[in-house]
Amino acid sequence: MAKTLCDWSKKDISDEFDRLCRITTSPEFVCRKCARCACAARHLCKPKRLENRQATAAATPSLLTPAASW
Ligand SMILES: [Zn+2]
Repeated sequence: MAKTLCDWSKKDISDEFDRLCRITTSPEFVCRKCARCACAARHLCKPKRLENRQATAAATPSLLTPAASW
């Protein structure tokens, strides 16, 4: 049931291909042991968050916007 992608057999992959696609379409984590990727850490045995995903744009603070326009 709650096995990680790392534990999936070839049979699991073909039986649950739709689910596999949902898990891997927009990966946020990568497994440091098995090189798999997934949208959530629970799908991997040694999850590591992917860091290079547009983090800088989201980190720009709105406080830098000048307040003189009102
Ligand atoms: Zn793994």
